[in-house]
Amino acid sequence: MQDLSQADDENILYKDVVIVGNGPGGIFLSYLLNGNWPYYNGQPHPGDEMLSARLEFLLEEANNGLKENSDDGEQIVKTINSRNHPIINKSYGPPGGAWQFMDPNILTISLDRWMSLPGLEIQEWESMIEAEQSRKSAILRERIGDKRLLLSQIKVNKSNAMRRILVGSVAAYYKDYVVKQGLAKYFKSGRIVTSVRPILELHNHDKEYGWIVQGYENLSRKRFRYKCKNVVIATGTTNSFNRLGIPGEETQSCWVTHQLNDFETRLDRLVGKCKKCAAKRKNQDLSKIDPVLVIGAGLSAADAIMAARNRGIPVIHAFRESTDLADDNLNSVKLTTSIYDRLRSLPLSMYPEYHEVYEMMVDDKTHRLYKALPGYTVIDLGVKSDDTNKTKERTVSLQSPDGNIYRYRVSIVAILIGAKPDLSYLGEYAEKFGRIVDKPIDGRSNPIEIDDFTYEVVRSPSKGLYAIGPLVGDNFVRFILGGAFGVAAHLIRNIDTD
Ligand SMILES: Cc1cc2nc3c(=O)[nH]c(=O)nc-3n(C[C@H](O)[C@H](O)[C@H](O)COP(=O)(O)OP(=O)(O)OC[C@H]3O[C@@H](n4cnc5c(N)ncnc54)[C@H](O)[C@@H]3O)c2cc1C
Repeated sequence: MQDLSQADDENILYKDVVIVGNGPGGIFLSYLLNGNWPYYNGQPHPGDEMLSARLEFLLEEANNGLKENSDDGEQIVKTINSRNHPIINKSYGPPGGAWQFMDPNILTISLDRWMSLPGLEIQEWESMIEAEQSRKSAILRERIGDKRLLLSQIKVNKSNAMRRILVGSVAAYYKDYVVKQGLAKYFKSGRIVTSVRPILELHNHDKEYGWIVQGYENLSRKRFRYKCKNVVIATGTTNSFNRLGIPGEETQSCWVTHQLNDFETRLDRLVGKCKKCAAKRKNQDLSKIDPVLVIGAGLSAADAIMAARNRGIPVIHAFRESTDLADDNLNSVKLTTSIYDRLRSLPLSMYPEYHEVYEMMVDDKTHRLYKALPGYTVIDLGVKSDDTNKTKERTVSLQSPDGNIYRYRVSIVAILIGAKPDLSYLGEYAEKFGRIVDKPIDGRSNPIEIDDFTYEVVRSPSKGLYAIGPLVGDNFVRFILGGAFGVAAHLIRNIDTD
């Protein structure tokens, strides 16, 4: 526990709730705590009669309850509303969390409507943005005397119920949602949280403020400290990319990357698409480019393969086969499906692009710009001088399933084998909160153990600690909303409103 006896209390800010993380989970929780309370619109649920019946019953109960306590209910929401609850988020990026760091050019796995946050559906937002843009260009055209585009001609068609959406649009939507819903004042951007700790009771003069959240501003390096009654951790599970742990992985950062986004930037450089290198690469013969090596069998690896082939760059693809993963899990908890199986299980009609990659991985045929190396293990990544050409070659060594070593010359290596959460700000508690104690937290195999209704961290040393999102196993945005609602409901019931 944190000893604050010697602490300089002057610079401490006091808050009811501090949310760490600015992804969809943190954003939606902020929206709720800002006084936006969900309500049942009285309509039957479109696909579930039993749920409709239960909702009707609950509505009757709630109506009876509200008649008795109507003043109290409103009071609580107003009180929370009037307090500040800063959301402290990491420096490199605006609200939107993980979405701000993904490749903006790929499509979501989910349907677009599942990416929505309450109060402003994503289709509605897109229509708004399009209308805004069209209005601006219509005004401009009017000013310059070109009236071909009239506002009445603007047609916005967002009716396709099975539509996926660009990741870049989702990132822009979350960022704008914060502004449009009046939440920007709660978001403290550019801050890294380095410590979340309960305060040792003996030294805590403000007994109700049981937690201290500390960190620094990324640009100024200025330190901040918040004493708060409640902390919600919503920091996601993609802060730290998994490593192979092989020689060259860290030292060859000029041509080895662990991020899809970065890989795409490097591909653009390779084909001279970026402005800086366009002149240098003009008229370059793409067939002379060494292949890129993609390692991994998940969706990001598939995205990387598509990105390279779409640019005319050949790909070598090394991946473990389905069965290789069987024993590779925490505490002998077996994975029911591997990443590889997940790729296969996506419906063909919705995800034709992923299926194309999957087919190439398994069909043993020759494909344009693609070579599968199933079951191959990467041994090292290095640079070899070629004295005849006076060049330096980027080389990788791979071991085949039958034990032979093969060397390849490559231009870029993308190691896309998943990510894990960075919970270093929890110190020794980081490994105490999981379902399997003393093992690292993992969104799939060892999520933080929480109360199913309140989302309080079960093994927290002190009350007032909550967790939401993939950290607790809610891996998709549409599931995260329920967690945020659970936290808000518990906070509002329990927070001291004096
Ligand atoms: C490639 C990819 C594709 C995906 N596609 C989909 C999809 O189609 N549909 C879907 O529903 N989900 C999808 N997901 C999952 C989705 O991104 C997550 O479920 C969701 O973003 C989690 O939201 P969150 O608010 O819990 O955390 P995140 O969105 O992960 O945000 C957490 C934020 O906390 C910040 N943070 C972390 N540590 C600290 C610290 N110490 N101090 C300050 N800030 C910190 C992080 O920088 C980040 O900004 C995808 C994920 C990936 C990686």
